[in-house]
This record gives sequence, structure tokens and C-alpha cells, in this order.
Amino acid sequence: MTTTSRVIVLGAGIGGLTLALELHRSGIDCVVLEAAPRLGALGVGINLLPHATRNLARLGLEDDLAAAAVTTRESAFFNRFGQLIAREPAGRFAGYPWPQFSIHRGDLQQVLLRAVRDRLGPDAVRLDHRAVRVIQDRSSATAHVRHEDGSTSEVRGDIVVGADGVHSAVRAQLHGDTAVPRYTGYMMWRGTTVWPRFLTGASMVRAGWLATGKMVIYPIRDDVNAQGDQLVNWVAEVEGPMLDARDWNRPGLIEDFIGPFADWHFDWLDVPAMIRAAEEVLEYPMVDQDPLGHWTDGRVTLLGDAAHPMVPRGSNGAAQAILDAGALAAHLAAIGDPYRALSAYEAERLEATSRVVLTNRVNPPDALLREVFDRTGDRPFEDIADVMTPEEISRFGESYRDVAGFSLTALAQP
Ligand SMILES: Cc1cc2nc3c(=O)[nH]c(=O)nc-3n(C[C@H](O)[C@H](O)[C@H](O)COP(=O)(O)OP(=O)(O)OC[C@H]3O[C@@H](n4cnc5c(N)ncnc54)[C@H](O)[C@@H]3O)c2cc1C
Repeated sequence: MTTTSRVIVLGAGIGGLTLALELHRSGIDCVVLEAAPRLGALGVGINLLPHATRNLARLGLEDDLAAAAVTTRESAFFNRFGQLIAREPAGRFAGYPWPQFSIHRGDLQQVLLRAVRDRLGPDAVRLDHRAVRVIQDRSSATAHVRHEDGSTSEVRGDIVVGADGVHSAVRAQLHGDTAVPRYTGYMMWRGTTVWPRFLTGASMVRAGWLATGKMVIYPIRDDVNAQGDQLVNWVAEVEGPMLDARDWNRPGLIEDFIGPFADWHFDWLDVPAMIRAAEEVLEYPMVDQDPLGHWTDGRVTLLGDAAHPMVPRGSNGAAQAILDAGALAAHLAAIGDPYRALSAYEAERLEATSRVVLTNRVNPPDALLREVFDRTGDRPFEDIADVMTPEEISRFGESYRDVAGFSLTALAQP
């Protein structure tokens, strides 16, 4: 069976669903094909920085996101002894016109999915539609789809967008075997724990350094029980061999990684106790891929992780997919010809996202922790002022904000 739609979006992840909402806002017809037969609450925490929340607020989603998320107040950096290195206000608390949200990936996906179904109709997202190949000719592009029962179907449109994540079938078709994962040398164990509020109750914490074990910890749901506890997301990052291939849902074992964090009993948080009380633990290698030379082939293009998988060290994986979606919809609305619109989209986004991929490798915001680790020889300090000046500290955040496109100056521009 063949059905038609102007834009065919492959993947109902964060980027694909945002694109559907952006296209709808621009009056462009689309359909979203998703491989999974159901969309469960998969993943753990994601941070949405103000450049992403600006776009989501423009789509009318700020209130729904605020209800599901924790509105982040600050980013705080500690060494592995629990000593404070720096605190920086976040989102509106830093003077941005938009908030920063810390949110469960499943909650973010549900907010987007509900909005897509409300606005585009209940059939706008077709589950159990795994794209296996895209074929195009001079007048159309067709996604060939396989269903769980082994049957197949086709959906034809003007354009196909591969928003199908790190294992993108569309990227594989466009680039063959050249887009291979690149392991950084660090494994990540991610989990969520119901836990009492710590620090401001809305602090995004980065602590320690990769060589001896680093953690990222932040709450993603408020008031999850009668005691007013939160759901806290944490990621432990530890140097070592790559244990497994990329699988977002692979369970992990606490004993495989707790060693470096076993004595992290801080007066503001008992880290090993929080880890041991986890609801679930997932294991994932810290990998990215070298930036691609092109994303677009005629009527077919890529978006989000399919186009630019990056290491999660700057809270920009979801954000850059959300920015891609805004840019693609704007070019399709402004330029009737699909070939020129996709080229304009690629010209705007490929280089910008490549810079983020490469900066995340060497100088993401947590490079501040590396600098303190190096200068102190991984020992406690008397006073952070003996280690670094406030100007030096603030330069780390500023340079990353410039590269990733969310400096206050950049977001002040219309
Ligand atoms: C199950 C899962 C859990 C994740 N957990 C986290 C997390 O905890 N923290 C974090 O920072 N990031 C997580 N991510 C990645 C994060 O969502 C992305 O880095 C980011 O949001 C960019 O979104 P995206 O839309 O490009 O990709 P994704 O959000 O990964 O979405 C891709 C979508 O495409 C679908 N898909 C894949 N192949 C096909 C196909 N052939 N045809 C049709 N559909 C297809 C997938 O099922 C998925 O729904 C997770 C991704 C997934 C899929």
C-alpha cells in the first residue's frame, strides 16, 4: 500500500516530533514514521538549554514542559572531594528570556507527542513503521517501510527527513560504512533515584574528572512522593575499555562502576547511597562520530543524532536536534523548491553542529573540572581562589556558550 504526504519524517524521537510541530506551524503537511510499536518512557535525563527552550516556547510548549520538568536554577561544579569550584545561574536565573529545563527524556517525548497528535491529528505519528530504504526520482521521494509482522508498505512525499537517531538507516544509506562510532575511552552508567532535594533543589551538578571518575547529577521530576522527594538523574563516567555497542536500553551493574565513587559522602549529597538506591541503571559507551561532509542527497536529508551524534558533555544532543527542526521548517516554508530548501538547511546547520561535535570532544563546559584536576594534582584545595581566578572560571562556560549558540548575546538577537 502507498500513502502520500508532503514531508515524511522518519523517527518520532525528540528531533522528529519537534520537526512535525515546526512544519505544522508553517502550514506544511507531514507524517512521522516511527520504528517502535509503542513509545515507552525510555532514557533518563536530558537538559534543555535556553536556545532549545526558546524554540519550544515558540511552539507553545513552555507550560507543559515546566509542569513535567525541573526548572534548573544553576550549574554547579565540584571536585571529587565535594568541594565547590563554581556555581553559575541557569536559564532565566542567568538573565535569559527562556528557562533551562532538566527533564526525563520520556516526559519530553510525551509532551511533544501529545502536541503532535492534538495539532496534526491522531494518525500523524505511525508506530511500527521501520524505514528500511528511501528511493527518490525527479518528482518524489518514497520511504520503504517494514512492520513487525513482516509486511511492508510505502509512503511517498516531496521530501524524506531521516530523524532516526544514532543508528540511522538513512545515514547508512547515504554514507555507507563511513559513519562509524568513535569511542572516547569512557563508559557511562546512567540511572534515576528517588531522593531528597539537594543544594537548591534545581542544581545541575558536575563533579570530579574523567581520569578518576566523574559524575553528572540533577533532579528531573519534582515531588514524586508524599515526602516531596525528587527523581534524580545521574551519570557516572569512568575511563575504561568499551564494554558494549551503542544501545540506549542496555542494563548496567552498579558493581561495575561504583568503585571510584564509593567514598563520595559529601555534606550536600551521599553519592554512593543515591547510586545504590537507583530504580534502574543503564550502560552506554561515550561515543560520537566524525562530522559528515554532507547530509543531503536531493530530496533526502538528515536531522538530529542521525546527522551529528555527539558526546553528551554539553547538554546539546537534544537541543541541536530541536534547532535543526526549526531551521529545516523555516527553509521549507521560505523556499518552495525542495532541492534548494534542503541545501539551505544543510548550509545553515552542518557547520554549526560540526563545531559542537568537535568542541564537545575537547572543550565542553566540564573542561573546567579537568583544569582544576590538573592544577591541584587531583588533591583537595584550601581555597578555589588559589587555583583559578573567577575570570578564568567564567571563560570556560562563555566559550562553550558561544560555540553551541546560546550565549546571552546570541539569544538577544531576533
Ligand atoms: C531509547 C532512547 C533512549 C535515550 N536516552 C537518552 C538519555 O537518557 N539521555 C540523553 O541525553 N539522550 C538519550 N537518547 C538520545 C536523545 O534522545 C538524542 O540524543 C537527542 O534527543 C536527539 O534526538 P533525535 O530525535 O535525533 O534522536 P532520538 O531521540 O534517538 O530519536 C530517534 C527515533 O528514531 C526511531 N528510529 C530509529 N530507526 C528508525 C527507522 N529505521 N525508521 C523509523 N524510526 C526509526 C527511534 O526509535 C527513535 O524514536 C535516547 C535515545 C533513545 C532512542
